[in-house]
Amino acid sequence: MKSFMTKFFAVLALVSAATAFTVHADAKPRRLKALVVSGQNNHNWPVSHLVLERILEQSGLFEVDIALTAPAGGDMSGFKPDFAAYDVVVLDYNGDRWPAETDAAFLDYVQGGGGVVVYHAADNAFADWDEFNRIIALGGWEGRNEKSGPYCYLKDGELVLDHSAGPGGSHGAQREYAMHCRNAKHPITKGLPDNWMHAQDEMYDRMRGPANIGDLLYSGMTDPATGGSGREEPLVFIVDYGRARIFHIMLGHCGPTAENNPAMQCAGFQTLLLRGTEWAATGKVKQPVPKDFPTTTSVSLRRDYRAPAE
Ligand code: ZN
Repeated sequence: MKSFMTKFFAVLALVSAATAFTVHADAKPRRLKALVVSGQNNHNWPVSHLVLERILEQSGLFEVDIALTAPAGGDMSGFKPDFAAYDVVVLDYNGDRWPAETDAAFLDYVQGGGGVVVYHAADNAFADWDEFNRIIALGGWEGRNEKSGPYCYLKDGELVLDHSAGPGGSHGAQREYAMHCRNAKHPITKGLPDNWMHAQDEMYDRMRGPANIGDLLYSGMTDPATGGSGREEPLVFIVDYGRARIFHIMLGHCGPTAENNPAMQCAGFQTLLLRGTEWAATGKVKQPVPKDFPTTTSVSLRRDYRAPAE
């Protein structure tokens, strides 16, 4: 009898352990591994890369590492991130070229089906690196012109390519502006309002490049009265680049401090960043629409970058 009871409890313990393990695994899925690349930028990268890290980490979905390059003009030979160890690489970098070995490792990662997020001025980087320009689809500044590819904007609701000569990349004065959804069925946009107000930010325009946009998700209408192109410009899109999952978001100009940073504090920007990063990492989006998402008439700021508790 004693032996039977011992066996019985031993089996019960095993079953309980298995059940406990299952529950535990369901409750806490593996966090996705994200690498934020920064260290040089014509923007306020010492703030922006930490804000990106904070937004991603606070969601509970991502475990974030940061790879910083040497300062401008410095010795880049030691910059060799292990891209392959990550589910997604978030680019917050615009500066000196990386070592050839690092370029090759990045291309291996992307062409092998890696996930990439191109954030704001990361699309200014590497104007003379053709493959990088195919990874971002559209870029600006840094000498870009008609040799970089056509302008790409919307006319009568369709993307058009305009090969006329001129510099690539500009923006009008910062302002609040409406975001126009162009594909409500994509996992990143699904459930979000068709039009919503983004907090004060730059709106990139006159961008040029190979223009290999896969899915256009959002566009915005520039304001010619404050220096804009006068066109409806693509602002958030998926890049068509082989097996890679590339999410390009032109929003999110970084303010002078983490506290005075409306474009990155916008709940809409943060929602797109989080959904786009999850999609780039996995091809899916499991995040619900947050309660504080902006509406068609009003912006919504998360001053501490944290979504409201459910
Ligand atoms: Zn900017």
